[in-house]
Amino acid sequence: MSAEHSSITSPKEHTSARPQQSLSSQIQNATGLDPACCYQCGKCSAGCPMANEMDLKTHQIIRLLQLDLDERLLASEAIWMCLTCETCTTRCPNQFDPAAVIDALREAALKKVPGRVPKRISAFHSAFLDQIRMHGRVFEFGLVASYKLRGGPLFADVESVPSMLSRGKLTFTPKKIEGIKALRRIFEQCATEKSK
Ligand code: SF4
Ligand code: SF4
Repeated sequence: MSAEHSSITSPKEHTSARPQQSLSSQIQNATGLDPACCYQCGKCSAGCPMANEMDLKTHQIIRLLQLDLDERLLASEAIWMCLTCETCTTRCPNQFDPAAVIDALREAALKKVPGRVPKRISAFHSAFLDQIRMHGRVFEFGLVASYKLRGGPLFADVESVPSMLSRGKLTFTPKKIEGIKALRRIFEQCATEKSK
């Protein structure tokens, strides 16, 4: 067995309080991918740039789906740390697509347990989308300010500001893209769809 192999190997935690449709079934419906097809080689986790930050490695996320350990999976922050870089998908020798599975898991988690999205992560997502809505691109200074106002750590990273300014990485005035009106219509359409 590979050293990368998950320590999550037993279905003992499975309880009778299983939801009507398991996360595994929801993911299959959303992506067409069956978590049971993953053979737990761990190659995805070995290449994941966020592996050291995640409390579950990529193959362990898939393993929890295989075992229907939904509560344990939803209690983890790992799916919110994923960068969707798709390194795992590229490395998988089994043509599986862990990045798509994690993306679908985030969608499912938002519907199932919206209150469990880690505060700093939901603050960053909202701040990022605000910037895109307003300018069509990220205005870094506005992003940081909006993130901190939404509850991000107030003084973290402050020491990096002078060097970012000196390298021209931070500007104080945003620039809008040309197609900003079309982009805002997309945001409006998404909001309408979401409210249905
Ligand atoms: S998703 Fe692919 S690379 Fe990752 S453990 Fe499963 S089979 Fe291996
Ligand atoms: S897509 Fe997510 S899980 Fe896959 S390698 Fe990138 S950060 Fe890791």
